[in-house]
Amino acid sequence: MDNANGQFGCAGAAVGPEKISADLGPLGWNDTFRFACHRGLPCFNRCCADVNIFLSPYDVLRIKHRLGLTSSEFLERYVLLPVEKSMKTPVVLLKMNDDAPRTCPFLTSHGCGIYSDRPWPCRMFPLGLAARRDTPDGWQGERFYFLLREEVCRGLHEPRQWTVRDWFDDQSIHDYDRWGEAFKELTLHQFFETGGELPPAKLEMMFTACYDLDKFRRFVFESTLLQRFEVDEDFIEEMRRDDETLLRFALLWLRFSLFGERTMKARPEAVAAVRGRTQRSAASNGPPPRAWPPAGQGKTVAPGVSAGSGAPEAPQPVAYAPGDEAGGLARQSLDQVGADQGGVP
Ligand code: SF4
Ligand code: SF4
Repeated sequence: MDNANGQFGCAGAAVGPEKISADLGPLGWNDTFRFACHRGLPCFNRCCADVNIFLSPYDVLRIKHRLGLTSSEFLERYVLLPVEKSMKTPVVLLKMNDDAPRTCPFLTSHGCGIYSDRPWPCRMFPLGLAARRDTPDGWQGERFYFLLREEVCRGLHEPRQWTVRDWFDDQSIHDYDRWGEAFKELTLHQFFETGGELPPAKLEMMFTACYDLDKFRRFVFESTLLQRFEVDEDFIEEMRRDDETLLRFALLWLRFSLFGERTMKARPEAVAAVRGRTQRSAASNGPPPRAWPPAGQGKTVAPGVSAGSGAPEAPQPVAYAPGDEAGGLARQSLDQVGADQGGVP
């Protein structure tokens, strides 16, 4: 069985930019490499252990569906949440088993037990992805691939030849890539690149919106959030039942609430209320904090979600029902946005 329908799963190793250019050579879309993964190889199943697999929001969404779990259940059972001072955004790592080889919890004797929903790094192997930082938009600029020459992997010596393009098609990587790009608009945001740091409450809100979608759904539908923004009724109904739609909304809402981008449009009555409040606040507290983004930035909107136009608009801080778990965080988050946006001319 070749890797078109077989099992594979090396997560790959972190490789520095010097190593990529010196040893591995960037691969373009039409460049070729050799690889096949099948049970007949002596390394079969040996690579799915003791690996660091970072999960994206879309990875979590796919796997929790596959397992029939809520996002909270999945996060509790299967992930580690490493916390280090240097981290600017929340990070979710797949938890390996406690056995000696530290096998992946989804590994079976037949290979990956969640094969069609396996995470992005497992799909990509043996390809790694890198981007040149010296392009005008930094890490979001020109990207390229390279071959991860893992010693353990005998598949790299098989005769089957692929172009990068064919590999992407074969492994259904395109959907994952689209979601990855949308997520990067948050994690590689210029706010961070220019030294910005999120306070703990906003980090927690970002974690909930990205990874704990079922909890985020409760926040969306059990608070007055949707009364404060212009969101199409059909889109709202889709968010009730469809996690991908909800994730799209979550990413837009985060760009609005974390960075003040005009990815959503507040209802006029909410804007008027916040303007009055921020003016009173400015009068009593002196100059407002630094505003983000610079005027004129922020434009991506999902169908059904209206973007602001003209001067940035701020939402009214949301009133929450008692017992709304996410409410306290969001109230802080939106309060801060209101304050931040008070500083935009
Ligand atoms: S998710 Fe599947 S492919 Fe990835 S490491 Fe685990 S068993 Fe291997
Ligand atoms: S080491 Fe390579 S060839 Fe062997 S099972 Fe893992 S991905 Fe397949």
